[in-house]
Parts: sequence; structure tokens; C-alpha cells
Amino acid sequence: MASQHVHDHDSGEGLLPVDEARERVLERIKPLQPLELPLTEAYGCVLARGLTAERDIPDFASSAMDGFAVRSSEVADATPSSPVELRVVGRAMIGERPEGTVGGGEAFSIATGAPVPAGADTIVPIENCEPRDGVVRIIAGSPEGKHVRPSGEDVRAGETLVQAGRRLQAPELGLLATAGFSHPPVHPRPRVVILSTGDELIPPSKTAEYGQVHDSNAYTLFAALREAGAVPRIAGIVRDDVDAFKELVLSNLTQADAFISSGGVSVGERDVVKSAFFRRGEVDFFRVAMQPGMPQGFGQIESKPYFGLPGNPVSVFVSFEVFVRPALMKMMGRRQLFRPEVSATVEEDITGPAGKTQFARVRVRRTKGGWVATPTGGRGSNLIATVAKANGLAVVPSGTQTAVAGSSVKVMLFRSMED
Ligand code: AMP
Ligand code: MG
Repeated sequence: MASQHVHDHDSGEGLLPVDEARERVLERIKPLQPLELPLTEAYGCVLARGLTAERDIPDFASSAMDGFAVRSSEVADATPSSPVELRVVGRAMIGERPEGTVGGGEAFSIATGAPVPAGADTIVPIENCEPRDGVVRIIAGSPEGKHVRPSGEDVRAGETLVQAGRRLQAPELGLLATAGFSHPPVHPRPRVVILSTGDELIPPSKTAEYGQVHDSNAYTLFAALREAGAVPRIAGIVRDDVDAFKELVLSNLTQADAFISSGGVSVGERDVVKSAFFRRGEVDFFRVAMQPGMPQGFGQIESKPYFGLPGNPVSVFVSFEVFVRPALMKMMGRRQLFRPEVSATVEEDITGPAGKTQFARVRVRRTKGGWVATPTGGRGSNLIATVAKANGLAVVPSGTQTAVAGSSVKVMLFRSMED
């Protein structure tokens, strides 16, 4: 029988709803100050300011064929039986400004891609030309503009090239390079320092003694950060020692745009993150109505966002998805902060705590009848293998204790279907 003194882990009483917790985080996050980065570094970043073409693209008219640049009016009546003979007065070459102009009775030989000389308005392809001894016989007419790529054909000077807010991918980098923008203003990738707290932790390279635990969170976070477009740095394992922990955070301040620690945010006496920053008022500690991931710390250390995640490996993964990733997206100036979601039919019952939102690890697949989700294992927040088998997090809202087989749930997709 339930006693009123027993703490009910499934009740959501006194806990902050997930959406509200996420709002509290996001309202304090601002996009990183724009930087003018070289194109290769700007790749994948969001353009902070729209860029306008300063010149026409292309900015000179060029030939689309090998042949002769002529005046269209002079060759209009040319046929094989009554060719028009023109004097060849120059040669237009790729990458060079043609010397001279095409006057009456004159032609320039021209290569594909070469600028069209002044005076000419059309290109006669080589197969309709019979050149010899400084003259060329044109055997077919070519209307004005034929085989000429006009300047400004692609973009006119003054037109928008890429709008603010657009993420720079292959087409945008190519276009900006074409227009001569070598350092576009973008929101940079956040540099994120990762700390793992716990006396029990050892690196994966060491063999664990009884009771020791490999630090896995650092690597989960490293990969998740990379995938999100951030620049992660593992600062290492910190003992449950408040001073050592503070010292490590503060010594990383200049090279970090944000911090993520795991562990040490519950109420235990050795919860270093809480002890280090709670009293300074820089980090708030929330109890969020979610499973996994109930205890969360969030704040700013010297105005840099600080995410104090709980220690359990699944809690870390889920907390990253729910809080950290959207915040990073906002720092990067992205408009879409959240993962894509699908509605899926659950194949088995998913039971969770009634008063909390449960993020259940599921494998989703597309069927003729729509999306179908299957749980990949138990709900324990230490069961990291359940994450590795999953491609989505099914969101079972607080108020629903069991998403019964056959019912529909929302699933956040955290990896592409091909992976
Ligand atoms: P804590 O929140 O510090 O009480 O940690 C909760 C649980 O997560 C404990 O079982 C820890 O051993 C485990 N844990 C904490 N940090 C890590 C880590 N970096 N890697 C793997 N497990 C961890
Ligand atoms: Mg700990």
C-alpha cells in the first residue's frame, strides 16, 4: 500500500512541464554574433545578412560556341550558294579582353567561353564558317544574340543572391564564390566544452575496476554536437570536487561558447555542479516532468550558456535532444530548431510515469499504412543500448500512462532513415 511518506517517482507533482522548461532555456539563448568566415568555414552555417550581387553574373557576354563573332545584320541572307565573306580582324580568347571591335564586313574568330568583342552581336558556329587566308565565308545566317551568353543572364547586379537565414550548402557556396564573396557573414558554429563529472568515471581506454564506469556521456555528446553542427571539445573527467570542477569550467571560458556537463545535478551531497554554481545564482536547477532526464541545470556562466545534464547515459541523450540541440540551433541562427516529427502507431504498449512526459526509444519504419514504432527496450535511464537500436524518441505525454498498442504517438526522428 502506498504510504504518503514514500516519494512517488511517477507523479508529476511540483515538476516543471517539458515545454515550459524548454521555453525557459530558449528564451535566454541568442544567436551567436555574426562573423565573416572564409567560404569553407562558412559551409553549413546560417547567413546572418542577405547578400546582393554587386555586378551582373556573368559580368561579360561570352560565346557559347566555337566559331566567328559577327554582326547579325550582315549575315542574315548567307546561304551555302551565296555565302557572305568577312575579313577576320581578330581573335577572341578565353580569359582575355578582345582587342578591337567588329566593324562592317569584319569578323573575329572566337572560342567557347571567350568574351564577345564589341560590335559583334551573334556567333556563327564553326560548322557554318569556311575560314581561309584572313577571310571567312559565312554560309548560314545567325540571328542577334544567337550563341551569346549575355551578361547578367544568371543574376543582375542588385539582385539578392542569398537571403539572410539561409543555411550555406553546396549551391549557396558556389553562388557566393561566383559573385566574389569570399567571407560571408554567418552565425558561427558554437564551440562547446564537454565535462563529465563523477569519481567513478574512467576513460574508455582504461579497464574498469569493480564499481568504475566508463565515461560514455562525453562521447555521446561529442557526436551529438558534431551532428548538430557545433564544434565539441571534451575537457575530460572531473572528480566530484567542487573546486576542481569550477576551476575546469572557468579555465575553459575563453574557448567556449557553451558548456555541457553530465552528472552531479541531483540532490546528493556530492552533486558538484549544483554546489559549484547554485549559490552563485548562475545556474538554475529544475525538476522537469520528464522521464528520463528529470533533474536539469541551466544557466549562464559569464553569459555563456551552461547545460547541466543529469548523469545517466539515456538522460544525457534525451536531454540533449530536448533542450540542448534546439538551443544550439538557435545559437546558430537556424529557423527550424526542432527535429522532424511523425505520428506513428505503436506496435507494443509503452508504459511510462503518468505524471511525466516519457521519451521512449523506438525504432520507426514507414509502412503502407503509415509510420509504425516499436520500443527498443526498457525505460531505464541507464539503458544506453536502447538508444543505439533506436532512430526516434516517442513522446508519451504526461497524463497518458500507457500508449497502448495500436494507438498513435508523436515520434521525434533523430537519425535519417538510411542510417
Ligand atoms: P549522477 O547524476 O552524477 O548521480 O549520475 C547518475 C548515474 O549516471 C550514475 O550511475 C553515474 O555513474 C552515471 N554517469 C554519470 N556520468 C557518467 C558518464 N560520463 N558516463 C557514463 N555514466 C555516467
Ligand atoms: Mg555523479
